[in-house]
Amino acid sequence: MLLFTPGPTPVPESVRLAMAEPTLHHRTPEFEAIFKETRELLFNLMATDEVIMLASSGTGAMEAAVTNLCHKTLLSINSGKFGERFGKIALASGLENIEIKHDWDTPVTVEEVIETVKANPSIDAIAIQISESAGGLRHPVEDIAAAVKEINPSIMVIADGITAVGVERINVEYIDCLIAGSQKALMLPPGLSILGLSSAAIETIGAGKGYYLNLASEIKKQKQNTTAYTAATTLIIGLRSVLQEIEANGGMGLLYCNTARRAKATRFALEALGLHSYPSTPARSMTTIDDKDAKEIRDLLKNEFGVNVAGGQDHLKGKIFRINQMGLIEIHEMVWVVNAVELALAKLGRRDFDGTASRVFNEEYFKTILKKEEK
Ligand SMILES: *Cc1c(COP(=O)(O)O)cnc(C)c1O
Repeated sequence: MLLFTPGPTPVPESVRLAMAEPTLHHRTPEFEAIFKETRELLFNLMATDEVIMLASSGTGAMEAAVTNLCHKTLLSINSGKFGERFGKIALASGLENIEIKHDWDTPVTVEEVIETVKANPSIDAIAIQISESAGGLRHPVEDIAAAVKEINPSIMVIADGITAVGVERINVEYIDCLIAGSQKALMLPPGLSILGLSSAAIETIGAGKGYYLNLASEIKKQKQNTTAYTAATTLIIGLRSVLQEIEANGGMGLLYCNTARRAKATRFALEALGLHSYPSTPARSMTTIDDKDAKEIRDLLKNEFGVNVAGGQDHLKGKIFRINQMGLIEIHEMVWVVNAVELALAKLGRRDFDGTASRVFNEEYFKTILKKEEK
C-alpha cells in the first residue's frame, strides 16, 4: 500500500534504521553531540535565530507559541481546522481571541489582516497557517507578516509551518515563530515538534509561561545541547537522519524544486481528467480535489489500486480527497497515483481510460528537466 496521506508521511528506510539503534540516555555526552548536530541542521532548515525541539505533537508547539508569545489578544486566521485550533488554544489559555474566518478553500487577504489589526490595538500576536492542511490552501503569510510589522513591530507573528517547512523555502524575515512537526513534511513518526524563534520573540518570551511548555526554560537548556525534560531521543536521532538524507539527495533546494514541480504536475494531470482543485490558492504540500464521488474514488484507490489518500474532515467529510506531496517522493509512485485516479474514474463510469493522467503528469514534470539539459 502506498501511503499518500498529507501526514503521516512515509519514513525513509535509512531513517527507520537509524531509529532502530539501542536507546541512548539523554543526559550523556553521546546524546548531546547528536543533539548539537541536529540543532545545526535545524538552523539551516528554519533560518531563524533560535530553534527549540519539544517532545510533543505539532499542537504542543502551537500551544507553546501562543502562551509564550501572546499576553493579551490573539488574532487567528481560520480557513480550516488548524487555524480554528489557534483560536481554541487562545481561549483555553485565558487569552482574548479575534478570528478572521473563511471557507476552507479561501485564504485570508493582507488587507483583511491590516484592517483587523488597526481596528483592535489590543492584538499583540497573530497566528496563521502557512499551509492550512484542512483544505490544502496557502495563506500569503510572508506578506501578512511584513504588513503587520509595518503597523506595529511588537506584534508577534506565529506561523504554523507544519505542512510547509521542508516543502518550500519560507522567508522568515518578519516571522517571529515558525512551527514544524515531525510526521508531515519531515518524514518522521509523530511526537516531535520544532519552533524557530526570532530574537524579538526571545525577548517577548522573557521568563516564559507555563511549566512543560515554558519556552524560556527550553531555550536556556537547548543552547547547551540538552533539554529541560527528557528529550525525544529516538525522534531526534531520526530527525538528524532525515536532514542528512535530504542533503544526500541533493539538499533542500532540490527538494523544494522537485516538490513544486510534482505538485503542479499532479494538479494539471487531475484537472486534465475533469477534476477540480479545491483551494483557490493551492499549497505545495498536498493536492486537494473536491468531488461528489470523493469517497468512492478514495475507496477505489485504496481497495483496488493500493493507494491510501486522505479524505476531508468535518463538513468536507466525503467531499474532498487530499494527496500528499511532502517529503522525498519517488516520481514513479506519483505517476501511479494519478494513473490510479484515472482508473477509478473509469470504474465509476465517469470517463473512458486513455492514459491522460500519466501523460499530462509526465509532460509537465519532465519538460523542465529536458529544458535544463538543452541549455
Ligand atoms: C497536522 C497539523 C497540525 C497539528 O499537528 P499534530 O501533530 O496533529 O498535533 C497543525 N497544523 C497543521 C497545518 C497541520 O497539518
